[in-house]
Amino acid sequence: MADEIWTFSEQKNNQLREVSFELLTWGRKLADQRDTPLCAVVLADDIPETELNKLIQYGADKVYLVQNPIFAHFLVEPQVHTMQHLVEIYHPEIILAAATTTGRTVMPYLSILTHSGLTADCTDLQIEPETGNLLQIRPAIGGNIMATIKTPDTRPQMATVRPKSINLPDADPSRTGEIITVTVPAKALASRMKFEKYASEGTNTASLEEANIVVSSGLGLQPEKFPLVEDLANALGAVMGSSRPPVDHGWQPYVRQVGLSGRTISPELYVACGISGAVQHLAGIQTAKNIIAINSDPEAPIFQVADFGIVGDVDDVLPVLKKYVDEM
Ligand code: FAD
Repeated sequence: MADEIWTFSEQKNNQLREVSFELLTWGRKLADQRDTPLCAVVLADDIPETELNKLIQYGADKVYLVQNPIFAHFLVEPQVHTMQHLVEIYHPEIILAAATTTGRTVMPYLSILTHSGLTADCTDLQIEPETGNLLQIRPAIGGNIMATIKTPDTRPQMATVRPKSINLPDADPSRTGEIITVTVPAKALASRMKFEKYASEGTNTASLEEANIVVSSGLGLQPEKFPLVEDLANALGAVMGSSRPPVDHGWQPYVRQVGLSGRTISPELYVACGISGAVQHLAGIQTAKNIIAINSDPEAPIFQVADFGIVGDVDDVLPVLKKYVDEM
């Protein structure tokens, strides 16, 4: 049997983030192919067993739990040194983490300490049948090609994957697994930084990724037209998104940017207003369930991926749509 496959779980206030279950969904596919246990690593200060059981219900065979007050807030050194210690004891074959601020901070540091490779921002993961190596697949060269990256010479093989890049299956309450509490040496828990406070970015970034409905505006809308989009978003109870050019122009904050160099989202409904549908934009909405596109150009590529397309000027279409929503 091959060595274990691990996922690096994320929690806040001792509640697991959804991305922890997404990682297990990726990991389960790989572990079944490699016929090896799938293990979730949790670093937390006081996490209830009911939370840990959710990891088993989403596919973990084992949960490695390191519990210590230092994990009450994110501090990079204890997280990385604890992971390094665990890697040295258990020698996992693969570690998957989320391409979030946490994952993007911990994993490069860990890859240096463990002298192993890391591929950031994967959108697909597979096992190479002949070698059992992890194939780490991600957009490259501005999203124009998909690169397949391997790290055959070092272990663990490590990758971060974008949140929302896989649909979550239903939790399986009948699954069973082991929760293993691990003690790590005090030096692994030391931190030269200390937590002071969280400062809000001003805009609610989490809400874009967690929103059920997102209404985005693109370069087809000048800033004076944004109230049209805002009105529709408010009527739908939606969160506002944006393509990249309005962000580059300083019309929209970066936290609203959807796409390759912005957020990956997975809403039930995505409404693209005056957005052409460039491949880099579409990279952020691959798992959106329904897409409505409003564009004055009937040839716009967005119509190739849209479930409903409205060819028209946003000036005319948005007020009519809002009126329909108000009357619903
Ligand atoms: P445009 O392509 O200019 O499209 C505007 C659309 O509005 C057109 O289709 C037009 O027909 C329509 N329109 C114009 N007027 C009206 C009107 N009155 N009513 C209705 N429709 C109208 N882009 C992203 O979005 N997100 C990213 O994260 C991202 N990352 C990138 C990373 C890299 C490395 C690179 C190279 C590019 C990236 N891009 C990203 C940019 C991307 O290539 C496109 O340039 C961008 O998505 C285009 O934005 P847009 O659709 O708003 O603008």
